[in-house]
Amino acid sequence: MPKPTADSSAQVELSVKVSPKGSARLKAGHPWVYRSDVIADDVPPGALVRVTDLRGKFLGSALYSSSSQIAIRMIASEPVADLPALIAGRIRAAIAYRQKFVADSDAFRVVFSEADFLPGLIVDRYNDVLSVQILTQAMDAEGVRGAIVETLVEELKPAGIYERVDSRIRELEQLPARASGLVWGQKSSTVVSMNGVRFHHDGREGQKTGSFLDQRENYAAAARYAHGEALDVFCYQGGFALHMAAKCSSVTGVDSSRPALEMADKNAALNGRELEWIEGNAFDLLKDYAFSGRQYDTIALDPPAFAKTKRDLEKALRGYKELNLRALKMLRPGGILVTCSCSFHVSAQDFVEVVADAARDAHKSLRLLEKRGQAKDHPILLNVPETSYLKCLIATVTS
Ligand code: SAH
Repeated sequence: MPKPTADSSAQVELSVKVSPKGSARLKAGHPWVYRSDVIADDVPPGALVRVTDLRGKFLGSALYSSSSQIAIRMIASEPVADLPALIAGRIRAAIAYRQKFVADSDAFRVVFSEADFLPGLIVDRYNDVLSVQILTQAMDAEGVRGAIVETLVEELKPAGIYERVDSRIRELEQLPARASGLVWGQKSSTVVSMNGVRFHHDGREGQKTGSFLDQRENYAAAARYAHGEALDVFCYQGGFALHMAAKCSSVTGVDSSRPALEMADKNAALNGRELEWIEGNAFDLLKDYAFSGRQYDTIALDPPAFAKTKRDLEKALRGYKELNLRALKMLRPGGILVTCSCSFHVSAQDFVEVVADAARDAHKSLRLLEKRGQAKDHPILLNVPETSYLKCLIATVTS
């Protein structure tokens, strides 16, 4: 049985020591230290701790996990007297950042964990419904949960806050099982609008917290170039497809998930459009289409992460190559390829090389129009490479 989670509002002075390797990592600006570099005696799960080097020099304050390989996640460079108050302040700062940098949308990520100095907390806003994910022992402590909900209610005045529980993560963090559900208010579904396109949101369903908000700016970019007959492969609930529809003569969306396509169809109706949705395996379908000589003017490829770990890298690169090769074979001259990878372990350079390889094999010349990443509400911290994961290339076929 795990020990009860520490009540972080209690001002207990707990401390951990980090090895020279751990302390070098912290000095380089990374907020994580792995278990092998941490000496922690009798520290309860989820505790707020003072971090020192082996000689006792203070390095900052961190949140401790008794089960994760990432034993401590830094939260401040100073001592912290009141963790819930610190978290409330960080949430307010995260909201202020979005007010400055998010435009044309009432759906965006409000808090993105380490990238907002709130490790283990994700909050997405879908118009008047908020979706919350709590991923670490420290964020799960009663006092901290209370501060999160109270601050969000005060600042954003939602009609509902829905907690999405990932039971696998709770098990890994040795937290007691918990069901997804409303933690505040009554409302869990709504309609959102991004870049002038409307989408249904049902907090209780779908992948991630409902949508792939990190693609929001890429949808608008893709729509700037889309034309003619378009194909959205791995379309989920129609993000790229519906954005491209205004510019294209026809759009077909492909996904293996029937519930995703049912929602995509509802979203098309909400925008007064009729699109074609095909349920199937994208690899098989692209093979058949390429074989039968189909041609398109615009193709979007947005597969799930193929490389979940470093070990999957080679296989992932082969997957990206195959998809891009098949898509490129079907693109007419002047055609547009929008191709994405959300695998952290595939670097931006790897991805460009794979697409270039595919173009060579397809005997097509590709001109890069835009090299893009995740939307600005998914901030990238330059000293924390893990915060940067999404790649999106927009290119045109010149021959
Ligand atoms: N482009 C989407 C997000 C795609 S997420 C958006 O912007 O909202 C990846 C999608 O790929 C998921 O919807 C998942 O159901 C689908 N998927 C996973 N494996 C697949 C496969 N082999 N063939 C077709 N779709 C697949």
